[in-house]
Amino acid sequence: MTTAPGSADEVPLLGEPLAIELANTVYAVRGEVRDGLATVADVQRWVDLHSGDLTATVAGGRSRLSAPDAQRIRELRDTVGAVLDAAVAGRAPTAGQRRVLNRLSAAGPRWEALSDTQPPAVALLSPSSPVEALLADIARSTMTLVTEPRRGAIRACPAPGCVLHFVKDHPRRQWCSAGCGNRARVARHYARRIPPRPADEVTSPAAHPGRPA
Ligand SMILES: [Zn+2]
Repeated sequence: MTTAPGSADEVPLLGEPLAIELANTVYAVRGEVRDGLATVADVQRWVDLHSGDLTATVAGGRSRLSAPDAQRIRELRDTVGAVLDAAVAGRAPTAGQRRVLNRLSAAGPRWEALSDTQPPAVALLSPSSPVEALLADIARSTMTLVTEPRRGAIRACPAPGCVLHFVKDHPRRQWCSAGCGNRARVARHYARRIPPRPADEVTSPAAHPGRPA
């Protein structure tokens, strides 16, 4: 499957945990998969948009991301996406994926510090470079998703053509977004109106799990 460059204003913002938000920068528009982090500027914009969730050394924007920084974030996105897909399928991360996440987390330690603002606030600080702190934040966000209590709540959106993930935070939530719910309802409506062709009536064992093959 080819991935076309996306545009920054198309990237879904679902308010999901950081790791899912990162994975969801690969998204689909009318069946075409797009990369919302195709350029360094795209990656910088994504980081700026999520600065509220990040360790202050990243959020402070004291240094701008370089091309190699952006590439490291894209590579971590591939790992995060694979770990989320495995979790959806009920599988644990592989040893290689675990090593990547653990190494990045260790390279970006952080601590809480009280600010001198009024009222005071708690800020997360790190001695690491902004990009190391960012990669560590994403790695830790991934860890919280594949462990209790969230393990088992990660979903791949079942809407036609959608490639996004979300945390099922409500028993009735079925889709990544209201837009996907609407599209799926419309697709079901039209599927009911169109009579099945003979080829569609050929049943397969998979379609009848209760019947012996
Ligand atoms: Zn969706």
